[in-house]
This record gives sequence, C-alpha cells and structure tokens, in this order.
Amino acid sequence: MKTAVRADALWRPYTQHALADEPLAVSGASGSTLVLEDGRRLFDAVSSWWVTLHGHAHPKIAAAVAEQAGRLEQALFADFTHEPARRLAEGLLEIAPAGLSRVFLSDDGSTAVEAALKMAVGHWAARGERRTMIAALEGAYHGDTFGAMSASARGTFTAPYASMLFDVLRLPLPVDDAAARECRRLLEPQAGRLAALIVEPLVLGAAGMRMYPPRALAELRRVCSELGILFIADEVMTGFGRTGTMFACQAADVSPDILCCSKGITGGFLPLGATLATEEVFSSFLSEDRARTFFHGHSYTGNPIACAAAVASLEVFKTEPVLERIARIGAAHERHLARFAERPEVAQVRRRGTIAAIELAASDAGYLSGLGPRLRRFYIERGVYLRPLGNVVYMIPPYCSTEEELAHAYRVIEESLALLAR
Ligand code: PMP
Repeated sequence: MKTAVRADALWRPYTQHALADEPLAVSGASGSTLVLEDGRRLFDAVSSWWVTLHGHAHPKIAAAVAEQAGRLEQALFADFTHEPARRLAEGLLEIAPAGLSRVFLSDDGSTAVEAALKMAVGHWAARGERRTMIAALEGAYHGDTFGAMSASARGTFTAPYASMLFDVLRLPLPVDDAAARECRRLLEPQAGRLAALIVEPLVLGAAGMRMYPPRALAELRRVCSELGILFIADEVMTGFGRTGTMFACQAADVSPDILCCSKGITGGFLPLGATLATEEVFSSFLSEDRARTFFHGHSYTGNPIACAAAVASLEVFKTEPVLERIARIGAAHERHLARFAERPEVAQVRRRGTIAAIELAASDAGYLSGLGPRLRRFYIERGVYLRPLGNVVYMIPPYCSTEEELAHAYRVIEESLALLAR
C-alpha cells in the first residue's frame, strides 16, 4: 500500500528536521526583498545562499529566461551548440583572468569542482604522469559530492563518509607570511605526486567567511607555478564581484590554470556551473585516441535557458553601474563594522568587498554552535534574513541593496548581541 504523502514531504538541505523551525513559505521576491505568503517581507542579506547577484527577479534576466524557454529549452550538448552557450563562453572569457581559454559547463558549484579535479588528474594522466594527489586549504569547502567533499575540510559535514574520501595534502590558511612559507614547505616534497592545489581565493565561505590576503594568494600561485602543480581557483562564491573585483584572483593578479564558477553566474536565477581551463589543460585531452576524451558531462550540461540567464546577467554588468554598487556596499560594511570591532561580544570583524562577517565570542564556537539558530530566528522576526554559520554572522547582500536596508540589518545584528549575555 502506498504511504500517505505527508503535509510537508520535502527533505530540506542542511536541515535537522527534528529541531528545525517550520520553513518560511515564500511566494515572491524582488530586488533584495523576499515576500512571504503571510505578507511578511525580509531583507535577503545573504543573497539566497550567495546566488542572487543584481537582485531577485531582475527584469532583464527574467525576460531573457522567458524568451529562451519559448525558443529552445534544451539540447544535447555533446552534439549541439547554441547561441546562449557561445555568448556565455565569450562573456566569461572576457572577464576572467588572462590565460583561461576553454569553458566546460555543468550544473552547480559542486559539479564545477568535480570537473576541475578530474581535469587536473586527467591532464597528468594524459601526459603519462601518475599524479593523483590534491592539496587544499584547512577549513575549505568545495561542495557536497564525493570529490568536492574530499577536497573540503574533514568535520561535521563529512564525518559519516570520512573513510570513503580520498586523502588530501592539507595546507594551513595563509593568513600571514609564516603560514604562506609553511604552505611552500609542505608542497615542495610532494610536488611530483600533486596534480593540483585547489583554493577558495581570499574568502573561505562555509568555514565562516575566513579570509586571507591577496599577497598570500599570489604566493600560493607562485609556488604552484615553480613546482609545476596545477592551481585551481574555486570562485563559486567569490566570483562575479563579491570580493570587489570580478574574480577574487584578480585582486592578487593571479591567473589560475583552472577556475570554477557557479552561484551568481546566472544572476541567481538558475543552476549552472562553469569550469574554465587554460589551453594547456584542454590540449592534454586532445588525441586521435578516443580513450583520452574528458569523460564527464551531465544531462543538463549547457542548458540554453541557464546560459541565457547568465548572458543576461553579464549584460547587466555592462548596462548598469554594478561596480559602483559593489563599492558602495563595501563602504557601508566598513562604516558599520567599525562599531562592532570593539564590542566585548565580538571576537573579530572581517570584510572583503561585499562580504562582511562578525565573529561572535561564543563559548560553543563552530558550525554547530547553538547560537546560530537562535540568532536566525531573532533576525527573521525583525525583517532580516541572515543565516549565521554557527557563531559567525555574515552578510553577502545582492548588489541592489540600499544603504537603509544595510543599516537596518546592522541595527538588528547589534540588538542581537544582547542574546549573548543570556
Ligand atoms: N565551492 C564553494 C566555494 C562554495 O561556497 C560552494 C557552495 N556553498 C560550492 C563549491 C558548492 O556549490 P553548490 O552548492 O552549488 O554545489
């Protein structure tokens, strides 16, 4: 007999259903505002898991999606190509760090990372070198599929699967010159076995918006070039202006061998991943021998509607003052953060571009800190959607966010510090 369908049959991501509040029933969104079924309005201070770029329901992207859906909604990308994909590749390479010349499309951030890791290992295999080791940073988060999980930090998210994950050479976060030197010291003896180093450039998102300076990013890149290790930049969160430059690598004048992007790529409208590679990496897979093909792809690879959304989002960068908006958000963060820095409840404040973080001095610091859910409830009751990473309250707002919206969010965060005293 078929089991009756429950009122809420949906199993939500990153949700402990035994403890979670009822989900917020959302019925609409525009700009930086989410509108709930009961009429409440929330300022989306985290861009709906870091994806919404220019604002919800941006009319130009919405129109491009509708138009493309009526024209060509899907095609098998191994044998077909189309204008939205061609224009997207052109647009991405125009704004990407120099040296990248090939664009491989997939579905999301995790698949963009999987493709990158497989490209790196396949690149060496094609050259007859057995290099399968990956290096990654402490605290890293690269996604939830097995390869991406392996490159990610071991911890709460990965514990049940630990024995199934491949080993990674783990490097310290290069927050200062000594740590950067330590990275070099750890990489050197393994150089002949390492396929690639993968990093989240400048900001480690899920780790709690932990940051390191452009100088250190440049040093990591330099070490990889010297040792002949491929350098993968996971710009899934940092891409498309979040850190102040189009890609975080550009603040350090770094050109990776492989770059992953997703999230904001479609302006936040549709899932899409892109893995950019140099000609050198691409050409490793060129052969008269079919067995040397890059055997990777997904049903929806190159989906025309997702590509059209991404092309429209890139257009918005050209037709609207997006870089000014980004600079304005950064300046607003800076002003507001200043008054948090000296508060006894605050351990540290951090900012890079439009990303701001306030790390609270909690006794149970970390992702599972009981503070996170209490704070989230407090913020939602006051009209701000924030989703703290444990004891780290952060903002990564859509670029259309106004001074007033940001000021209100910071006021509410300030009020919430009183919760720490209880
Ligand atoms: N890499 C980074 C740096 C990310 O922040 C994320 C998602 N938070 C991912 C990869 C995985 O992306 P997705 O959730 O789209 O699979």
